[in-house]
Amino acid sequence: MRIYLSRPDITDAEIQAVTDVLRSPNLSLGPKLPEFEAAFAEYIGANYAVAVNSGTSALFLCMLAMGIGAGDEVITTPFTFVATATSIMMAGAKPVFVDIDPETLNIDPAGIEAAITEKTKAILPVEIFGNPAGFDKICQVARKHNLPVIEDSCEALGSALNGKKVGTFGAMSTFAFYPNKQITTGEGGMILTNDENLADICTSLRNQGRGKGGAWLSHERLGYNYRLSDINCALGIVQLSRIEEIKAKRRQVAQYYQQILAGDERLIVPSEAEGCDVSWFVFVVRLAEKYSRQRRDNILQTMREAGIQVSNYFSPVHLQPFIAERFGCSEGDFPITESVSERTIALPFYNNLKEDEVAIVCDALRGALDNNPPAA
Ligand SMILES: *Cc1c(COP(=O)(O)O)cnc(C)c1O
Repeated sequence: MRIYLSRPDITDAEIQAVTDVLRSPNLSLGPKLPEFEAAFAEYIGANYAVAVNSGTSALFLCMLAMGIGAGDEVITTPFTFVATATSIMMAGAKPVFVDIDPETLNIDPAGIEAAITEKTKAILPVEIFGNPAGFDKICQVARKHNLPVIEDSCEALGSALNGKKVGTFGAMSTFAFYPNKQITTGEGGMILTNDENLADICTSLRNQGRGKGGAWLSHERLGYNYRLSDINCALGIVQLSRIEEIKAKRRQVAQYYQQILAGDERLIVPSEAEGCDVSWFVFVVRLAEKYSRQRRDNILQTMREAGIQVSNYFSPVHLQPFIAERFGCSEGDFPITESVSERTIALPFYNNLKEDEVAIVCDALRGALDNNPPAA
C-alpha cells in the first residue's frame, strides 16, 4: 500500500508516558486508570467515566447496567459497525432496526416511533462517522416515550451539536479507542454517565463483579474482566490531552478532500450540517444515486490496485448472515441504509495525511470514476 486508510498518531509524549508505567509497579488498577477516567469525564462534561477494554465491552456493560436482557428490545440503526447491534444481542435482547435519514445517515427520528413496542427498553443511536446531526430530534422522541438513550459515540469523540458535546445526549454513552479512532489506547473503551448507580454497576461488572471497596475475592454479581490496563490508560491520557490538535488536523485533511472533490457531480462529499461541530472520524464519499454496487466495488478494486487503501463503510448490519437469519431480516427491509451502503467509499483519513497524498487519492478516485461510468 502506498497510502493507508488509517494510521495512529503517537508522539514521544505517549511513548514516554507508557514507558513510565512500565517502569512502575502498577501495570493495572494503578493511578493511571482514575486519572484517565477523570480527564475523560471532565472533557465530555459527565459526572462519571468508567474505562473498559473496548468500545464493544462498553456497550455491552451499558445493556447490563440498564437491566436489558432476554425478552427486551432495543431500537438501533442498521447503518453502523456491527458491535452496536451485537452488544444488544450479547445481553440476550433483540435489536430492532430503524432505517436512517438519507441526509444525516443517522437513525431516522421519525422512524423510531413506529418501532416502539411494549418490549422496547432503550434507543441506541450512533453518531455515524462522527456526525451528531439529528440527535436533538432522536432525544425528543425518546423523552416523549420515556425511553432511555444509550449513545454509541464510538465514532464521535469531540463532536458537538448546537454546543452540546457528543456523549452527553444519552443516559449512558460509550467511546472506543481502537487505533483508527480519534484517540487510541491500542484497544479500549469508556462508559460515561451522570448516574452514580449505573457507574458503580459498570465498575463492578468490568472487574469480576467486585463491589465498591470490597475485598479482592469478594464478588457481588456475575462480572467480567473488561479492565483497561494502566499502560493503555497512560496512552489515553496523552492522546486525550491532544484532542484539540487532533481535531484540527483531521478537519484540515477533511478540508483538503472537500476542496479537491468539490463540484464533482459523480460524488456526494460529506460536510458539516448546520449546528454540527464534527470531529472527523473517517472521510466517506458516496457515489451518486445512478451508480450500482458493482461499479462501486470496481472503483474500490481499482484504487486498491493503485496502492490506495479504501473501504466500504458500512455493510448493512441487518444483512450480516447471522443477524439476518436470527431476526428474519432480508434485502429491501431498510432501503435507505442498503442504497447508501452500496455507494460508499471510505478514503484514507488520518491526522498526518498530507495535502499531496490527498491529491494522489483524489486523482486515483477520479481515474477510477472515469473508467467506471454508471450504467446507462
Ligand atoms: C469502533 C466502534 C465501536 C466499538 O469498537 P471496539 O473495536 O470494540 O472498540 C462500537 N460502535 C461503533 C459505531 C464503532 O465505530
